Amino acid sequence: MKNLDGFFKPKSIAVIGASRTPGSLGKMFIESVVKYKYTGQLFPVNPKADQIDGIPCFPTIESLPDQIDLAVILVRKEYALPSLEACGQKGIKNVIVITAGFKEIGGEGIEREEQLKAIAKKYNQQIIGPNCMGLINSEEEFSLNASFSPTEPDSGSVAFISQSGALAVAILEFAKNLRLGFSIFVSMGNKADLKDIDFIEYVAGQDRTKVITLYQESIEDARNFLVKAKEISHQKPIIILKGGKSSAGQKAASSHTGALASSDSATQAMFDQSGVIRVKTIQELCEVSLAFSTQPVPGNDNICVITNAGGPGILATDAISENGLQMARLSENTIQQLKETMPEEASANNPIDMLASAGHEAYAKCTEIALQADNVGAVMVIIVPPPVDTTPRKVIETIAEARKVNPHKPVFFVVMAQHEHEGGELDLVTELSIPIFDYPESAAQAIAAMRKYDKWKRKKTGNIRKFKVDSVKVRTIVDRLKNEKREHLFDEEVREVLMAYGFPTPRFTVAKSAVEAIEFFRKLNSPVVLKIESPKILHKSDTGGVKVNLTSEEEVESAFSEILSNARKVVSDEEIKGVMVQEMIKGGREVALGMFQDPNYGPMIMFGLGGIFVEIFKDIIFRIAPISDVEAQEMIESIKGYAILAGARGEQAVDFDIIVETMLRLSQLITDFEEIIEMDINPLLTSPVAENTKAVDARIRIKL
Ligand code: ADP
Ligand code: MG
Repeated sequence: MKNLDGFFKPKSIAVIGASRTPGSLGKMFIESVVKYKYTGQLFPVNPKADQIDGIPCFPTIESLPDQIDLAVILVRKEYALPSLEACGQKGIKNVIVITAGFKEIGGEGIEREEQLKAIAKKYNQQIIGPNCMGLINSEEEFSLNASFSPTEPDSGSVAFISQSGALAVAILEFAKNLRLGFSIFVSMGNKADLKDIDFIEYVAGQDRTKVITLYQESIEDARNFLVKAKEISHQKPIIILKGGKSSAGQKAASSHTGALASSDSATQAMFDQSGVIRVKTIQELCEVSLAFSTQPVPGNDNICVITNAGGPGILATDAISENGLQMARLSENTIQQLKETMPEEASANNPIDMLASAGHEAYAKCTEIALQADNVGAVMVIIVPPPVDTTPRKVIETIAEARKVNPHKPVFFVVMAQHEHEGGELDLVTELSIPIFDYPESAAQAIAAMRKYDKWKRKKTGNIRKFKVDSVKVRTIVDRLKNEKREHLFDEEVREVLMAYGFPTPRFTVAKSAVEAIEFFRKLNSPVVLKIESPKILHKSDTGGVKVNLTSEEEVESAFSEILSNARKVVSDEEIKGVMVQEMIKGGREVALGMFQDPNYGPMIMFGLGGIFVEIFKDIIFRIAPISDVEAQEMIESIKGYAILAGARGEQAVDFDIIVETMLRLSQLITDFEEIIEMDINPLLTSPVAENTKAVDARIRIKL
């Protein structure tokens, strides 16, 4: 873990490029630092000024006193590197490079960024930026605003790490309106040196930071990010707003999996596997953070809504179910207690409609009763102003007092339709550490995010099982392909790989003549499937190369000649290796397994329903390999077609254990051999009987 105290808790800061010119960056920067009441020493560097706003200036970096904790470079791009070099010689180890004109402009900028990295390496410096907006530490002891943010964030427990400076401004502004407070803010810019995970690790170790939020566009060292984010998510929630698309996965026509993966598949897998909470908008980022930073996580999905108007109660009910939560069912006893505190016309059924006449005492009493109900995980209190004879502020204050009986259950406030919150109730967000939302939808969304996080945290990690396999055999095959500069394994090589790694495969032979095919059929004494065997034919059924459920010698014979004559229409005789005769798997439901290499995350595993379900409905899911047994099971359960496998309409469920095992074997194979860049098992025929589950068709491609 990197020590970033020099950035966030510096005792002294040199500002290279400080200026007296009103409106210039160099002037604005000094003003920000002064205005936020920085507690350390400030050393502006400017050859032409002897002081800026009364602070003495230094003409050069060399002339600065020794032992400066942090330098901020905001000179023109031509001077940025010499300044960094001079900082290095002066022994300054932490540098924020605000200056733009690096990698982001392409061309010479890329070269300049490489030089920047080289200088930093030479002097063992840590760099934030270049092309960034700086940072803020709201901790009173330091009160550091080393940024250009026009909004000074309130102090609080949310750390905010942003790749884009401009977007950060928007987020800080939005957060201010919600009264969401920040522990630190940092704008990372081009991330030439310090990156997302460095900041995440740093704030994870801070007591003041309870929630970690990010705006992220690109991800570096994605695997490392996944591992560390997963670890940290167990301690503190990480919330990410992801901007832009990650580079698309490789799309080879020969592979279903590669072609099916969208540019977001890997990113989504990363979020799901690491427990990181993904939000889609700035608003959601702020609101979910507000919920996490002020309330305990609800212990279950059952929400109780208390309102003084019917309409919002109905909207809340809708939002709760749309977000995968439930309206809590209240017991007779709870309902009775509620009735005793409310007028007769009021409704004691969830949503509890206290009617417009409800005062703060009644609100508090009802909230207290709801919080005491065992099955209620959280209470959403909706106030539609103006409440009669009271104010939203008074209602919230009274509830906050009353809920002390049950501080472990969260309460979410919604104050609706009151323009600008004139009653000053928003100040209570900070004073009482409670969340106030404008709409029930926002509250429901935030609660749902908390519940999802809680479920992830409680989940078993599972095992990454290791099977006894013949990896030497696969190594030989892979090396052979590399030597021959051949990308695709021949069918027989694919079968060897499958067998070496213990995949369940059907009995088969490759017949050169109809007589051989019939002989195998006789020996097997059960229905067979015939398939063309040719390295030139990848999609066998498309060219009439597959005949299933052949039950007699006559059928086998005519299928054999039909397949051959179909094949001869598209390939020459030398390209036909024979016809495969395979045991027919009866009554199976088809699933597809696959893998491809994501440029950021490496090998990814896919699971989905086979056949047209894969191609048309894209009912598939991806995970970053290796996967655990729990993750494999989760993948299976997460697709829409799961119900089909689990036995819809009285059908028997398929055997899931063997599917999980097959997925784990695939996971092991592709982690053992990074040369495998695409693989499909389509279909894996599944069945209620484990022994009847077989990989009947597969393809493998390697990287040369
Ligand atoms: P391709 O994908 O190249 O067209 P497959 O070997 O996948 O060829 O066969 C096409 C379809 O035929 C499969 O999706 C499956 O429905 C069926 N099939 C293939 N082999 C068998 C088998 N051994 N038992 C039952 N059905 C099979
Ligand atoms: Mg197939």
